[in-house]
Amino acid sequence: MQLSIDLTGRNVLVAGSPAAARQAVRRYEAAGAVVHRLGSPAEALFVHLPERLFLVAAVEDGQPGWDAFLERCRNTGIPVAAEPAAGPAGHVTLVGGGPGTGDLLTVAAVKALRDADVVFYDRLAPYQELPLLTSADLVDVGKKPGHHKVSQSDIEKLMVESALAGNNVVRLKGGDPYVFGRGGEEVAACVAAGLKVQVVSGVTSAISVPAAAGIPVTHREVSHMFTVVSGHAPLTEKEHHHLAGLGGTIVVLMGIGTLHQLAAGLRRAGMRPDMPMAVVERGYRPGQRTTIADLGTITSAAAGCSNPAVLVIGEVVRVAEANRNHAAAAADLDRLAASLLGS
Ligand code: SAH
Repeated sequence: MQLSIDLTGRNVLVAGSPAAARQAVRRYEAAGAVVHRLGSPAEALFVHLPERLFLVAAVEDGQPGWDAFLERCRNTGIPVAAEPAAGPAGHVTLVGGGPGTGDLLTVAAVKALRDADVVFYDRLAPYQELPLLTSADLVDVGKKPGHHKVSQSDIEKLMVESALAGNNVVRLKGGDPYVFGRGGEEVAACVAAGLKVQVVSGVTSAISVPAAAGIPVTHREVSHMFTVVSGHAPLTEKEHHHLAGLGGTIVVLMGIGTLHQLAAGLRRAGMRPDMPMAVVERGYRPGQRTTIADLGTITSAAAGCSNPAVLVIGEVVRVAEANRNHAAAAADLDRLAASLLGS
């Protein structure tokens, strides 16, 4: 159970060494409390408790000797809330944020965000929900296609400088950091600067966005493999042939700009024009939309589609259609049964 209490204007005393207590201090300040600090049990011997103290946050900083002070508070009727110390400062965690909804963040991602001092986030990550998940400073380094807000090398520089200054840095990226996410480069930049760096895998849009449209990327007896391709630049003729020859599902990220070349290339490579194809735009976000056509008709069917979108080529697209038809038929039956029962 989670309680939410309005702390605006309330006196909160955070007891704990400055490094261990830094996140608690930021969190209570962000909640509007008037924060008082106590860095060591020795200081506690002489301190006058602030008047009308609402809460003491006792950070478990490992210093011996807090017990007497906390006992004194409890005896005066002041509630004491224990909380874990902030993690060691000065490292970077690359976090996969999933396809854009907080529901698809991993538990490890939520923990890393909670413990962060600074979060550098992308537009594809679930950034709107960040203020609920962390009290860290939030820095938008998001990029819209074609508009590089902060260059990749500047992002790396910012992350490294911030961690070297002693912050717990989270780099929150859309999907998984290692799927077309330049995660490897960011890790290399941290390692080169002598920083500790961790990677928290995320739910990639390559699988989850088709799923949002009911499309399984594999399905027994329909497709036993899937290939994830970047459509950032047009594929070569050889790549079109390899893909068409594989016979599995093809998932394309960043593929709206090169959709026409891809469809034409796969046709030249011998893929059937009636191969089903789907474009799933804005998965898990307002305005999610699925356009279903086939290889021969997709270019005109998807003329109004825009990024972010995931393309799916393969028979699995029909599985979604079949399931949708079943679901619609089941809903029709439910409605029929309800009207019969009602009459
Ligand atoms: N690392 C990310 C991919 C980054 S490339 C991941 O693992 O998901 C960016 C591309 O991801 C977009 O152009 C689009 O093709 C896809 N994408 C990410 N989020 C999406 C969403 N919510 N809906 C549709 N496509 C999305």
